[in-house]
Amino acid sequence: MKDYDVKNIRFTVLGAGRSGIAAAKLLKNAGASVFLSESSPKDKLLYFNEKDFAAQGIPYEIGGNTEKIFDADYFVTSPGIPPNSEIFLKAFDRGIRIISEIEAAYRFCDAPIIAITGTNGKTTTTELTGAMFRDAGFDAHVCGNVGLAFSEIIPKLGVNSIVVLEVSSFQLEFISDFKPDVAVILNITQDHIDWHGSFEKYADAKFRINMNQTGDDLIIINHDDGELSNNLDKLRGIKGAFASKNFNSAEITNKAYTDGGSIFYDCGTAEKITDNKDIFLRGTHNVMNAMAAVIAAKKFGISNDSISNTLKTFKGVEHRIEPVREIKGVNFYNDSKATNYDSLYVALESFEGNIILIMGGKKGENNFEKVDSLIKNRVKLICAIGQSKDVISERYSDFVKVLKFDTLDDAVINAGKNAKKGDVVLFSPGYKSFDMFDNYEHRGKAFKEIVNNLKG
Ligand code: ADP
Repeated sequence: MKDYDVKNIRFTVLGAGRSGIAAAKLLKNAGASVFLSESSPKDKLLYFNEKDFAAQGIPYEIGGNTEKIFDADYFVTSPGIPPNSEIFLKAFDRGIRIISEIEAAYRFCDAPIIAITGTNGKTTTTELTGAMFRDAGFDAHVCGNVGLAFSEIIPKLGVNSIVVLEVSSFQLEFISDFKPDVAVILNITQDHIDWHGSFEKYADAKFRINMNQTGDDLIIINHDDGELSNNLDKLRGIKGAFASKNFNSAEITNKAYTDGGSIFYDCGTAEKITDNKDIFLRGTHNVMNAMAAVIAAKKFGISNDSISNTLKTFKGVEHRIEPVREIKGVNFYNDSKATNYDSLYVALESFEGNIILIMGGKKGENNFEKVDSLIKNRVKLICAIGQSKDVISERYSDFVKVLKFDTLDDAVINAGKNAKKGDVVLFSPGYKSFDMFDNYEHRGKAFKEIVNNLKG
């Protein structure tokens, strides 16, 4: 653990979520003066344990932020609080510096860091990269938005450790020194505009992952994404990029691309890594995620054999085009994480046809045009559920059969009854889950349970 002298520094940690709790403990153990403040009531907190906090000697308040929070040199903020909120304005006035949990943890980290951001694909790419490093014998610690907080893994790091960190734009907004050895920006599309204030501010937050990189540090971007490739001159450090086709760029020294159904890596000479058909994860979006991981792995000297073996065996992350079961030649997939039409699009694109699609959820805005032609050409039946089932039926009934159901159980049972050998039953809702479920994880687990209870 790196020595970061916090003995005379006062931190107010805002938010008693997983990362806030971890940051408070890390800072306290390092000798800082720490106060934790949470605006939500106790019964809404999943990770907070009063006894545990009292035992650590960390003072706290739950159910509201009082003036006490301003008795600090630093705020360690949580993603729930937008940058223009009143407490931040007050904090700026009083000279309090605001940092995110990843910045706080970074100051104690002496292991190399691979940090991964982007609008879509962060969790999958972070887990895949972690698996690639573990398979190659590294002591790789996957953390950030996935599972453990960065602050939680700091005490576990040893001399051979490497950190693979998923970072969100919220966390990047409040970094100051954070400098990963390898940074990845997978893509940038419209998202979280309310929080950041505008698309430009959201994109700027993503680029901050690179702002302290220098010399040998590597930044990896998606060359197909104009928002990224048109801004190469903004980037610092060694530049890497991946793309769906080979490309020429004087600035990019470490590249990965697909050609003739295979992935190649080129850092002076092109080397074949694997055939796309041998990657366990489905879909062209996952080939992009794989290429980002390949460039990071090559930077640390991982062999092509080891990389291709991980790509063959890594089974993906729960609720993302997750294979559930095969019944009489019909394959069932859980893609409950598809809470919008962008995700629905990449899921439909991952199967060539014969799709029985179970979709629907909480009514909301969506980009129908994006998926129209894939639904026309690849889907043979839609089983619609949730608040949006009537909208779905109105939109698609003219060119594909649409059945409406009141429960997920009925939708799955009828999807199964209508399926023939070779068909795919894909649960890719395209809408948020809150009309019928607590969250997308709850919805995905419900789907899997129903499928696993179907008679063979
Ligand atoms: P995140 O952590 O960024 O939300 P996930 O790995 O959880 O990303 O994937 C979320 C959804 O984003 C998946 O259901 C998939 O549909 C979609 N997705 C994954 N990777 C990509 C990508 N490279 N480009 C576009 N969409 C993607």
